[in-house]
Amino acid sequence: MDDRVKSLRKELVNEKQGNNPWRPVGFHILFGLLWIYLSDRLLSMAIHDRDMYELIQTFKGALYVTITGIALYFIIRMDNSKIFVLNKSLSFQNEELVAYSEELTAADQELNNKVDALNSLTEKLQNREVELLELATKDHLTKLQNRVKYEMDLKHYLQVYESFKVMIVGIDDFKKLNNYHGHNYGDALLKMVGLALSGALGYNHVYRSSGSEYVVLIPGDFIHSEEEIIFMIKGALGQIKCVNGLVYTPSACIGIVYANKNETVDTIYKKLNVSLLHARENGLNIVKSYSETFEREQFYNIQLDDAIKKAIDENRFELNFQPIYSLSKGYIVSYEVLLRWPNNELGEKNIGHVIERAEKTGQILDLDKWVIREVIRHLKTTPNVFMGKLISVNVSSRSFHSEHFYTYFMKAMKEASIHLSMIVLEITEYSVIENLDKCRSIMESYKQEGVKIALDDFGTEFSSLNYLSKLPFDTLKIDKSYIDDIESNERDETIVKHIIDLSRNLGLLVIAEGIETKAQEEILKGMSCDCGQGYLKSRPVDVSVLSECVS
Ligand code: C2E
Ligand code: CA
Ligand code: CA
Repeated sequence: MDDRVKSLRKELVNEKQGNNPWRPVGFHILFGLLWIYLSDRLLSMAIHDRDMYELIQTFKGALYVTITGIALYFIIRMDNSKIFVLNKSLSFQNEELVAYSEELTAADQELNNKVDALNSLTEKLQNREVELLELATKDHLTKLQNRVKYEMDLKHYLQVYESFKVMIVGIDDFKKLNNYHGHNYGDALLKMVGLALSGALGYNHVYRSSGSEYVVLIPGDFIHSEEEIIFMIKGALGQIKCVNGLVYTPSACIGIVYANKNETVDTIYKKLNVSLLHARENGLNIVKSYSETFEREQFYNIQLDDAIKKAIDENRFELNFQPIYSLSKGYIVSYEVLLRWPNNELGEKNIGHVIERAEKTGQILDLDKWVIREVIRHLKTTPNVFMGKLISVNVSSRSFHSEHFYTYFMKAMKEASIHLSMIVLEITEYSVIENLDKCRSIMESYKQEGVKIALDDFGTEFSSLNYLSKLPFDTLKIDKSYIDDIESNERDETIVKHIIDLSRNLGLLVIAEGIETKAQEEILKGMSCDCGQGYLKSRPVDVSVLSECVS
């Protein structure tokens, strides 16, 4: 645009210079003066006659006016046509300018439109950003804040508060409920719990951290005490009376972490998980604060799990045998097979803890199968030691309920041609607690093959007489805890006496476990208890010790 305007200006200046009015006027003055001077001189030189001179003078003036008039005419005409041309050019250039200005206006309009479009795009982007942030920080199911938001807020808390509390709330038995009633039910339960918690504690304090777990962030200056918050959480859950049309009130385990500025998001999260695990290990509806000791135990257990797996694979376990003997006659009736783990890398001596751990992780199935293989090996390699004796093998609840274990057991025993009538399986109340009918059917399937079943540790759990009357046990083992105080505690003595009488009436063989003193043995003998087992007679020993006794 600038170039065009400049060239236009230049043209105008040129035109102005070309039409300088002084040029024709100067020319007219010069020509007039020359004409007067030269024509008069020439005339006076050429004409001497006075009258002639006068006459010519008269015509000379007229000639001059005519010539200058004609010259003026041409000059004006030339200027006019120049003005016309200039005018034309100006109007053309004006048109161009108008067109150009219109072009500029259109471009301006277009630019404005683009700016508007850009503004609305920016607005949309900002809205989308807000939406995305909400999407990234909100749990889509419960509409609570999610773990991302929890971590953001936790970082803020770590900067702002010297100390504060974080709680984790895990719905009890969620997995079971979800599997049993279906995912719709599970979703409804999660939503209701989320709503109840945020209603009681405020939306800003509650987050759904994962699965069936919620986190509650409690600012350092929160008005409610820890006890009040727990009360509020439990109260909120208690108000749920029905989930997806089914009557149910959920409960939850709660873990508490006391956080301070030195913590990180990760250490707090780890502590929360440890405290919830601790609570859950203790049952339902339990509250536990983070404990370093518990965490250490957990760490140890993880190492233990690995070591157990390795020990099964590498045949590092061993078996001991403890005699069960007739109290009246003194001879050995059977041997109880007890697992041992000598020289293990963790220095673990408590086989009960090993079994407990294996039960938790499911490794017990492999362990029980290993014991069966090993029992068979002993029966085959030292048959004279076990001749005429029963072999009592402890079987965990999980293995007892496993069809795979049943098949494995039967196949292994039959392939080794072991008389199944010499095998006693010791199970605890845990194995029979849930479904009596199912239990009876499992027991019968073993018994049909000649295997005997003993109820171990009787008296420690529910000790329901129901089991004894409804299930086809062959043997009942009275738990050591009743025998321990039998000399001094009359109540224990009475209970043991009644258990023995009841067993006799039901046709069960009774074994008293953990006899350590002669006095205990005598009392049991006096009660006509069939058999005894304990350190008094023998500790659990290696098969080589039994071989020496036989030979
Ligand atoms: P349990 O079946 O009740 O085994 C009897 C436990 O009492 C054994 O402990 C035995 O050593 C101990 N005991 C026997 N007489 C006495 C006594 O006079 N005084 C004292 N203080 N203790 C006595 P152990 O070997 O430590 O076994 C603990 C538990 O581990 C067993 O309790 C059983 O439940 C489990 N267990 C042991 N071996 C196996 C196994 O091969 N498979 C399975 N599934 N569990 C096993
Ligand atoms: Ca036992
Ligand atoms: Ca026992």
